[in-house]
Amino acid sequence: MATHAGGAGTAQATIDALLAELRRQSGTREIVGIGVGVPAIVDVTAGVIGEEAHNVPELAGVPLAATLCARFALPAFVDNDVNALALAEWRFGVNRGVRSLVVLAPGTGFGSGIVLDGRLIRGVRGFGAELGHAPVKFDGPPCWCGGRGCLALYASGRGIAEAARERATTASGRALAEAAGGDPRRMDAPLVFRLAGAGDPAATGVIDEACRALGAMLGIVINGLNPEVIVITGGVAAGFAALETRVLAAAHEYAFERARAGTRIVIAPGDKRSSMRGAAALAFYELEERKR
Ligand SMILES: [Zn+2]
Repeated sequence: MATHAGGAGTAQATIDALLAELRRQSGTREIVGIGVGVPAIVDVTAGVIGEEAHNVPELAGVPLAATLCARFALPAFVDNDVNALALAEWRFGVNRGVRSLVVLAPGTGFGSGIVLDGRLIRGVRGFGAELGHAPVKFDGPPCWCGGRGCLALYASGRGIAEAARERATTASGRALAEAAGGDPRRMDAPLVFRLAGAGDPAATGVIDEACRALGAMLGIVINGLNPEVIVITGGVAAGFAALETRVLAAAHEYAFERARAGTRIVIAPGDKRSSMRGAAALAFYELEERKR
């Protein structure tokens, strides 16, 4: 179900309708719990969604776990959507069974999730694994998050589109401007990847920076955590998948060779079903954590 099929502000109603429908379809199968992945920082212990929920503002500050638990009489768990996605990759993905896995998910923004030695890393305030807003250029330009030189500025859908918009105003960016039909709002990451693939110098400049920024983050993750697997997924991953050699070369540039040799890097373009499995993976993970 589309979150806002019923109009703006209807996320809670959509969740309720979806759960009621799933319960109706479950027949004699037992439902053990409810998991929800939300594009926001989440206070997981309290089950409360943070104040900055840009895509679902109506859920900001909502104690969703308690609400669903009361409404459906089932244990309910809420976490950040990319944390849930990392649990899905870890539990159900092609790399299931590994002890440590990091998901880097460039989409509109840049999400990430870390499972280390079998535990999801959330940090003390739920900001654990916000690698999209870790700086890859310490003196880089200001980021929309209030930081500076963040990975998301260079390698997210929004970052790539904004960098291309800037270049489109220069003489060398004429082809970029024309490809967007002269409308800056129509500039998006797939368009920039396509033009770079066709050899346009301005688009190539933007995509080259995106690859290098992603390479720097791979260096940080490999040298800092040395997980068994890094999965690059999300809406913009298809663009990077076509440039796998370039991305891996950038990782070589920034990571310890012997550490990198132990970490497998997989570029797997986004699939919404993985995110949905993340909700289930979250519920299973939390129910198992309760038994520990
Ligand atoms: Zn930032």
